[in-house]
Amino acid sequence: MKFSENDLHRETERLFKELKKVKWSKLDCALIAPITLEINRLKKEKNAIILAHSYLTPDIMYGVADFIGDSYGLSRQAQKTKAKIILFCSVHFMAETAKILNPKKTVLVPVIAGCSLAESITPKDVRNIKKKYPEAAVVCYVNTTAAVKAECNACCTSSNALRIIEGLPQKKVIFLPDELMAKNLQPLTRKTLINWDGRCIVHEKFSPKTIDAVRKNYPGVKILAHLECAPEVIQKVDMSGGTEGMIQYVKNHKAKSFMLVTECGLTDRMKVEMPNKKMVGVCALCPYMKQITLRDILLALKSPSKDQIIELPESILRKAKRALDRMIRITEDKKFK
Ligand code: SF4
Repeated sequence: MKFSENDLHRETERLFKELKKVKWSKLDCALIAPITLEINRLKKEKNAIILAHSYLTPDIMYGVADFIGDSYGLSRQAQKTKAKIILFCSVHFMAETAKILNPKKTVLVPVIAGCSLAESITPKDVRNIKKKYPEAAVVCYVNTTAAVKAECNACCTSSNALRIIEGLPQKKVIFLPDELMAKNLQPLTRKTLINWDGRCIVHEKFSPKTIDAVRKNYPGVKILAHLECAPEVIQKVDMSGGTEGMIQYVKNHKAKSFMLVTECGLTDRMKVEMPNKKMVGVCALCPYMKQITLRDILLALKSPSKDQIIELPESILRKAKRALDRMIRITEDKKFK
């Protein structure tokens, strides 16, 4: 669709207001303005919403997304939306989660993006480990396929993992697939955690040396790390947890500078949403999340291919929903807060 000069100018200004905080120029914004206008027009025409994970690029988060968040927050948005179409801008397993929670909706993905954690384990692996520890509950991190979730007692995210482990009656818990997260959680619970050997290729890259260097260069800096990092990193930081916990920490802390030991998208989010807080140090890019572009979103909204429409077999959907419902019940139960 062709837009008027006026519309394009207004859109450029709207984008620039936010994106200049992450060093986008007005020309950069002018170049994407026709695409964001068209995506936002199609959203209205098709009664669609766009959910965007915090690890995406800022043009997607602030140009076209209706909600930005972590996997838990976005799952809840997917569950309660009245829109007909959910365009889930994130890796594939998160879009599957949206389909499980709201199966009547059309759930679309712009790109079929994987994740090193989700790809590290199959349903057969889960069945085998269950046979080895029949007395244990199985908790799967949300970064798993729907078919893996279907084999588990409860699902969890980085923000509620400990609460889910504590909320289950079993004393032994098979926690999968993130080996490093299981190791980080073990000292926080009396239960025995049995882990798998999956890793996030983004968070495992950070080393304790980086933390030491940043502390030396920025006295007074508060360093926050995602639970997918190695325990040697977690031991050196001021706060560890999930995405939402990190956002709240930065928002409420009086320190002037912060380093987020996580994916760069979250640092960008902080720069846009909390411009008075200084972000320092380094971050890392997720090659899966960063595949998604505005053009992919536009094409998926216009006429999605078969691959871009999430479909799940009824039996997987039903069983995986049990694991997700259990997570939501425990997370929202005041007894565990
Ligand atoms: S950041 Fe790590 S866990 Fe998240 S999608 Fe990328 S590879 Fe998977």
